[in-house]
Amino acid sequence: MKTTLQKIRTRIAPSPTGYLHIGTARTALINYIFAKQHKGDFVLRIEDTDILRSESRFEDDIVEGLEWLGVHWDEGVKVGGDNAPYRQSERTETYKKYIKELLEQGRAYHCFCSEEELEAHRQSMLSEGKPAVYSGRCAGLGQKEAKEKMEKGEKSIIRFRSPSKKIKFEDVIKGGVEFETDLIGDIAIAKDENTPLYNFAVVVDDHEMNITHVIRGEDHVSNTPKQIVMQEALGFKRPIYAHLSLVLGSDKRKLSKREGAVSLVEYKKDGYLPEALLNFLILLGWSPGDDREVFSIDELIKEFKLEKFQKSGAIFNIKKLDWFNAYYIKRKNIKELAELCLPYLLEADLIQEVEGGKFLIKSASEKVGMEWIEKVVFLEKERIKKLSEISYAVSFFFTDKVSMANSDILIWKKSSKEEVLEALNKVLMKLDSVREGEFNEVNLKDALAGLAEEYGNGTIFWPLRVALSGREASPGPLEMADVLGREKTLSRIKDAISLLSEK
Ligand code: GLU
Repeated sequence: MKTTLQKIRTRIAPSPTGYLHIGTARTALINYIFAKQHKGDFVLRIEDTDILRSESRFEDDIVEGLEWLGVHWDEGVKVGGDNAPYRQSERTETYKKYIKELLEQGRAYHCFCSEEELEAHRQSMLSEGKPAVYSGRCAGLGQKEAKEKMEKGEKSIIRFRSPSKKIKFEDVIKGGVEFETDLIGDIAIAKDENTPLYNFAVVVDDHEMNITHVIRGEDHVSNTPKQIVMQEALGFKRPIYAHLSLVLGSDKRKLSKREGAVSLVEYKKDGYLPEALLNFLILLGWSPGDDREVFSIDELIKEFKLEKFQKSGAIFNIKKLDWFNAYYIKRKNIKELAELCLPYLLEADLIQEVEGGKFLIKSASEKVGMEWIEKVVFLEKERIKKLSEISYAVSFFFTDKVSMANSDILIWKKSSKEEVLEALNKVLMKLDSVREGEFNEVNLKDALAGLAEEYGNGTIFWPLRVALSGREASPGPLEMADVLGREKTLSRIKDAISLLSEK
């Protein structure tokens, strides 16, 4: 017998009522990986049924964040596809068809209860310790009666008549889940025929878009039985459900803004690399079962197992993200890294782009090329955790003179001021003897070898480091001298000598 296997299709269905944050990005990533590991499709649908709270700037943020992360959708807003449109606000006709069908079959009815009545009922149920389900007061109204009320201008919404039964579903992550529909009551599915509500629109769209796997946050578990009863009424196939445990803050509560509940685009601006964020996100709830932590997207497509996703919440730890980011920064080739750092140097006003592919060092009125910027960035490659840290890290390369708040830092801990002055003067003489074309790290090391032996490495190299950078923490002094060049190196040493002599 010939069987045709259904193509796996997943989706992310964010509501554009806020920025794309870590939790949704992680859900999108998992849906993407799952689809790709099954040679399936991943869809981006925008759930903007909440017209008042939906904003196009949030949709733009979602699109930008996902594109940057490298989670590419096969169908959806911006790219289109066979199931367009992908914005719920543009799919009204589709929902209308199904709302009509449910009304005609008596599976849905108009409810005329006012908000005040509903709230009063809710409160009285709660005070009796009962679940706050709809009373069913309008469930008995015939279609004719409802029509008359509407003609008189009475306001209504549309409710789905929930059957009284037990709903069971097998969640890929949580295992068997059961709900009594009596605890759900009749479900509000649309404000009117043109204005569907989430639980109904999602059922129609997942069906119309042939979604096979609904992978989403655990906060939607309680919506699932509502969606299942509607699927059953409409004769739709039930997708496979997987509810992901949530991302929590270090206090094990909902992720706060301070700890990471900000737009993904903010992470981009802050200088996180998408490969680092992606790697970090997947480990929030999944591990390969051994101690490996570093995964590329292609490796994840091979190794990720949805059924192994952890049942308990995952704690967001920014230090771990920084660790991944530093890891991926170190592995960038220098050309790529310099390109990535360039916007930060421009933004910090250290340089300005001028004609001929050159850059003007603003405080030194000197022009440099990209090759020089690459050398500078290379020296800090091991030290920065985020791209945004580059501008401070390299700023002393982009100044005419080094600024030093306190010249005491020139003095190596085991030596005296006089010794340091003597050492710096000797260093100056030695480096002065190295000619312009030969002023490189190897020759400088040779030139200072005897002094280092005589005075000790600390006494020689410490003040040189501080003289060149103005800092106690910096790349190696000889590497810096190489990049700064003969003239700047010698003048910075001279400046340090006069600063120390004046003390
Ligand atoms: N629009 C819903 C949300 O943003 C999506 C829920 C779902 O994936 O079914 O949470």
